[in-house]
Amino acid sequence: MTYSKHCPGCNAVFEEDENDPIHPYIGASKGCWKFFTEVLAWEGENFGYPKIHRLLVDSYCAQHPGVKSRKSIQSVAIHLIALYMAVEKQIDLKVITKSMDRALSKGAIFEWLEPPEDMGNITILDIKKAKSLKEYEDILYKWARSILKAYSKHHDIIKTWYEKFFY
Ligand SMILES: [Zn+2]
Repeated sequence: MTYSKHCPGCNAVFEEDENDPIHPYIGASKGCWKFFTEVLAWEGENFGYPKIHRLLVDSYCAQHPGVKSRKSIQSVAIHLIALYMAVEKQIDLKVITKSMDRALSKGAIFEWLEPPEDMGNITILDIKKAKSLKEYEDILYKWARSILKAYSKHHDIIKTWYEKFFY
């Protein structure tokens, strides 16, 4: 059976089928998760494996924090720090990925951030509209900025984590 449903993460409405798979800890509806996997395929077909892919995953995961669990705590923290590094520190996305690996191997420990009520106006539905790699990069940086803004009440702790584990 197919029906429309609001995603608990981004609040956009998606068509979904009750048999569609759901991610174990990313807090997306079945329809939103399915749309995200379609965007991943679309990205691959149109742009190969672009460096900007990092921001697609970071923004999507931060916008869908789910409920408090060991995995979701780490996922949300890591993706928000990556967004902070990309947007506020303007660090190269490839360098961010390397710092992530280093920080995790150092045993970085995070805490649960209460998700913001408003996750911004940009959702995965807007991303597939890009007609060139340049447009795709622009919309993903815009999405990244809007997610960081949504989490602005946690800005100081994200900055502290960055300085403690990634600097
Ligand atoms: Zn969603």
